[in-house]
Amino acid sequence: MRICVIGLGQMGGNMALTLQAAGFDVTGSDLFDSARQRLAERGLPVVAPDELPPSDVYLLSLPTSAQVREVIETSPGLLGLAPKGSVIVDTSTSDPVVSRELAAKVEAAGLAWLDAPVSGGPKGAATGKLGMLLGGETATIERLAPMLEAMSARYTHVGGPGSGHVVKLANNYLCAAHLLTTAEAVAMAARAGVDPAACLAGLNSGSGRSAVSEVNFPEWILSGRFDSGFITGLMRKDLRLARDAAERLDMPPGLLQAVVEAWHADPEHPADSDDFNRIAGALLAAASEETAS
Ligand code: NAD
Repeated sequence: MRICVIGLGQMGGNMALTLQAAGFDVTGSDLFDSARQRLAERGLPVVAPDELPPSDVYLLSLPTSAQVREVIETSPGLLGLAPKGSVIVDTSTSDPVVSRELAAKVEAAGLAWLDAPVSGGPKGAATGKLGMLLGGETATIERLAPMLEAMSARYTHVGGPGSGHVVKLANNYLCAAHLLTTAEAVAMAARAGVDPAACLAGLNSGSGRSAVSEVNFPEWILSGRFDSGFITGLMRKDLRLARDAAERLDMPPGLLQAVVEAWHADPEHPADSDDFNRIAGALLAAASEETAS
């Protein structure tokens, strides 16, 4: 299977190397020479965006739906250049409305579509242990099973085109909310004299636990490392997409709006380029400063 990975950032670069190590014929491409160079130094064949080779799969890992649309429709325009029968797989966290529109165009052009947003960060991408949410036809998923198995610990088919992106927005809303609620809970315990690490150990043995309490707090927040590889700007984008989806669906007002506002309250703390776990770090620091004063 010839796979062309477009977007060689934190996620795409690692996915490309994982697929290459698993024996697939992988070529990478990125808008930026620096990204191509970084992967070329690690042994990945790379090409400029106007030199994409004929492939069975075009695997996209791009910031937003705007870049996904650009790559499919205009630059380089996969709709025109991808061989008939090839599959466009969008692993980005994209706007489901745009994904459904693009999926229809892709299918009308004789290609297949799969949305396959991922969880697990750069580490999951580098180790082939991603979680993937799939939106598309069962036949397409069966065709791509060897590739999906090489990339992921688990993949879940949640519905037709766009469904993977819908569920990914729901997932990231929960993750964003858990970062706020868990930080508040740990700050409350700290004010009452309980060590944060001891508090976390307690929460993780109870029903309040989550991936945020089990992974993010020990690995990136309490350790002070803040190097997960996922930036605040991308989480803010995901939350705005989730809010837009809820508005379009006439959802009654819920907690989502409050979570979106909390994440956008201060654009500098954390800044868009900061690790997304910084938001919990800032809440914990603010709580401990208030306690000290
Ligand atoms: P990134 O910014 O590190 O990588 C994106 C890459 O796309 C960059 O190298 C950029 O140069 C390239 N690019 C942009 N426009 C392009 C174009 N028109 N043609 C070719 N290349 C182009 O981002 P990332 O952290 O790897 O995230 C990628 C996607 O995966 C995002 O949608 C993000 O929300 C999602 N995601 C990220 C993580 C994570 O932990 N980083 C986890 C899950 C999902």
